[in-house]
Amino acid sequence: GLSIGIVGLPNVGKSTLFNALTGNEALAANYPFATIDPNVGVVNVPDPRLERLAGLYHSERVVPATVTFVDIAGLVRGASTGEGLGNQFLAAIRETDAICQVVRAFADPDVIHVDGAVDPRADIETVNTELVLADIQTIDNRLTKLHREAKGKPELRRVVDAAEAARAVLDEGVPVSAAAGRLDLDALGELHLLTAKPFVYVFNIDEAELGDDARAKELAAVVAPASSVVVCAGIEAELAGMDPAEAAELLAGYGQAEPGLVQLVHVGFETLGLQTFLTAGPKEARAWTIRRGATAPEAAGVIHTDFQKGFIKAEVVSYDDLIELGSVPAVRAAGKARLEGKDYVMRDGDVVEFRFNV
Ligand code: GDP
Repeated sequence: GLSIGIVGLPNVGKSTLFNALTGNEALAANYPFATIDPNVGVVNVPDPRLERLAGLYHSERVVPATVTFVDIAGLVRGASTGEGLGNQFLAAIRETDAICQVVRAFADPDVIHVDGAVDPRADIETVNTELVLADIQTIDNRLTKLHREAKGKPELRRVVDAAEAARAVLDEGVPVSAAAGRLDLDALGELHLLTAKPFVYVFNIDEAELGDDARAKELAAVVAPASSVVVCAGIEAELAGMDPAEAAELLAGYGQAEPGLVQLVHVGFETLGLQTFLTAGPKEARAWTIRRGATAPEAAGVIHTDFQKGFIKAEVVSYDDLIELGSVPAVRAAGKARLEGKDYVMRDGDVVEFRFNV
């Protein structure tokens, strides 16, 4: 599945957050291989629609979509030149599909800051500089060979040009994703650049600042237009061990409707460019993960490759119509069920039944 790497300077709350994510009963997915690597956590994407669907269909179980988080330690100043766990760190982060950067915004003088002062903007700069430097190295290593290879293979010229353009952007200290509009991202794909990955920032704030909208806006503005979430890792850790009623009470005390981690999972899912479609029956109500823009046959293929190969049509009803009218036959009777062909682009919340040849 698709994974999000959690990075950040030491002592910013990465482990606290990761443990809260994987220790949260509502979020922790029932995944057989989740225990193999202690730094990998498979997390449910909470979706209240599934419970409603399961109620309609008397489904035996609910199967949410999941996101995988990887706790990647070892980012320090100089990581790009092999300082600390530099090389290990870079190899681990290269394998993830998106980057979640945890940024310290809590003051607590008892927790030492590696650079002596709490300064979210400066920390982000430090981390991003390491990622930018790592990408410059990757490009320089690759360009030497690319120039040679392009002599015999003119089609490589496009990669050379894209790499040189990216090199110029990185030289200004700008991440590739922040200059996506002026770079040939397709051609850059084979370089697996770190700063080309989608980014989401997590600001770890003081308990006292939870619910402070002005502070949240101020922090979000530091990284906009990139996505960000504001959490208090300490509170998230407390919530992980509570039953739902207790947790709701604690959150309400801070003026929060849902845990920051739930927001993070949702933002992470969107940052990865994903969406869900739904299926329901007596066995299960289930959310399936597809990329935004996926067609009906591609969606069918997520359930089973045979569904994609033998795809005929998809019967699609919208979740809202289904809940309003109470059943698929009622949606059909109201003329709101659609038979869609192979070019149909799936929408979030489509409830689908595929017709296919076997
Ligand atoms: P990591 O090095 O980034 O993985 O950071 P840790 O999760 O190990 O946290 C470092 C220290 O900061 C620990 O002593 C945590 O208890 C503390 N810490 C983490 N989050 C918070 C927070 O939101 N508020 C306060 N006051 N301390 C925190």
